[in-house]
Amino acid sequence: MDFQPDLSLEAFRQDVRAFLRDQLPSDLAGRLREGTRSPPHELKRWQGILNEQGWGAPYWPKAHGGTGWNVLQRLAFDEECTAAGTPTQDTGAQKLLGPVLNAFATPEQKAEHLPHIFNGTRFWCQGFSEPGSGSDLASLRTQAVRDGDHYVVNGQKIWTSHAHRADWIFLLVRTNNEVKKQAGISFLLVDMKTPGITVRPIHTIDACHHLNETFFDNVRVPVANRVGEEGDGWKITKFLLNNEHATAADLPMLRRYMRQLTALARRRNGAAPARIGNPQCAQQIARFEAELAAIAMLVQRVAALEQAQDHSPAAHALGSILKIRGTELQQRMSSFVVESLGDYGPVAFPPPEAEAAEALPMQDVARGMANEMFFRRASTIYGGASEVQRGIIARALFQL
Ligand SMILES: Cc1cc2nc3c(=O)[nH]c(=O)nc-3n(C[C@H](O)[C@H](O)[C@H](O)COP(=O)(O)OP(=O)(O)OC[C@H]3O[C@@H](n4cnc5c(N)ncnc54)[C@H](O)[C@@H]3O)c2cc1C
Repeated sequence: MDFQPDLSLEAFRQDVRAFLRDQLPSDLAGRLREGTRSPPHELKRWQGILNEQGWGAPYWPKAHGGTGWNVLQRLAFDEECTAAGTPTQDTGAQKLLGPVLNAFATPEQKAEHLPHIFNGTRFWCQGFSEPGSGSDLASLRTQAVRDGDHYVVNGQKIWTSHAHRADWIFLLVRTNNEVKKQAGISFLLVDMKTPGITVRPIHTIDACHHLNETFFDNVRVPVANRVGEEGDGWKITKFLLNNEHATAADLPMLRRYMRQLTALARRRNGAAPARIGNPQCAQQIARFEAELAAIAMLVQRVAALEQAQDHSPAAHALGSILKIRGTELQQRMSSFVVESLGDYGPVAFPPPEAEAAEALPMQDVARGMANEMFFRRASTIYGGASEVQRGIIARALFQL
């Protein structure tokens, strides 16, 4: 791979920056930086602005109405958006479901769902994990039994992010108990307003409500809402989970933490000297810089392999290494930011839905950072737990 600066990528970055400067309304910007969360109507508004620009699906190929950007351009776009503090897009729809619909859905299903994804008018959640079926997803037990032109779905999902505000869910169900477990799974699209669906919150240590338990009690789903053939669910899931490894480290977020922790270290607190003068603190920051540079290079390598459509075990192993090292660094850096805040802990742990308070000291770097640090505990679990990633690396290295 080539480590020379890519001038065309730099020009692309400038275009994205100019767009964000001109088109990102100030009332939508900066919530993440301020430690508050964007409510759904703001996400929809931002999605509408992106769509106007022709960037409604930044991660999709041109043939599917996307931007056709390559992996490095997509990463640069994400980084600029994080730096500008845009609301996030509906990642479930954009990065997971969208590519599945484009690859496997019927023309009717595409006509029904794709325009809503571009316009941000239908929010999706992912109904895969169940109690006892997380890493071993193929053991899932939620049943869908055929009854004429409907399936009747019974069972429970867990850890369903944003189910409480989603309009639809993409769901894995068991349609056949007689075959090998992977072969008995199907992929359904379900309207969350269908009778029989109950969503219960799981409150997490970051004081936010992202997670839920989702129950299905005799939920009738039209057979026309099945993507692919009956029993294709596992094939579709493998396609969906294979889509993007280069983003697993969340490089834009790591860069944001770096900016925060250096700003904090340089800041003087009254008469006390700036922390950067403390050799231990300076050494730790230098270590983070070095690790961040290594992660950024690994992202480039993984992106280059993705661009080349390399799905070999070695390429997967690199993606897994990136996931482990990137998420561990997220945890250590966010902890260091909170540690550096010392007495300003309460500013760092505000109610996430509250608007930013007036002029609290350190608010520009502190607010929401403790919530963020607690949330990042989960990053070594979601998207494939670290132990499972280590298994992938070992199998690739030792050809098990
Ligand atoms: C914040 C968050 C958001 C999530 N959002 C969603 C969502 O929107 N939709 C959804 O469907 N799911 C979601 N999940 C669930 C997530 O995919 C699972 O938590 C994850 O797959 C792990 O499964 P599990 O929790 O059942 O743990 P388990 O699979 O039971 O694992 C328990 C422990 O055993 C270890 N382990 C398991 N298998 C192996 C193995 N083969 N080798 C070595 N060690 C192993 C694990 O590493 C872990 O330490 C979310 C999870 C989190 C934390």
